[in-house]
Amino acid sequence: MSATTIATLTCINCQRDEGEIPLTQWRMAGQRFWICPDCLPFLIHRRAEVMPRWHLPVAAAAKGENHAEG
Ligand SMILES: [Zn+2]
Repeated sequence: MSATTIATLTCINCQRDEGEIPLTQWRMAGQRFWICPDCLPFLIHRRAEVMPRWHLPVAAAAKGENHAEG
């Protein structure tokens, strides 16, 4: 039982499960995660902000965003 194993499908952001709300599976750099319709806009519009919070590799996603640092 590793901590990274996803036993129950839950939204990566709000943690609601598939019995409660529709979930869509996404992939990123070999990782799979699920997102509900309510949280999908975060992935679209605030990707660089939410991906570190979701423990997803942010390097590729951050490119193209306006770089605040530097
Ligand atoms: Zn959600």
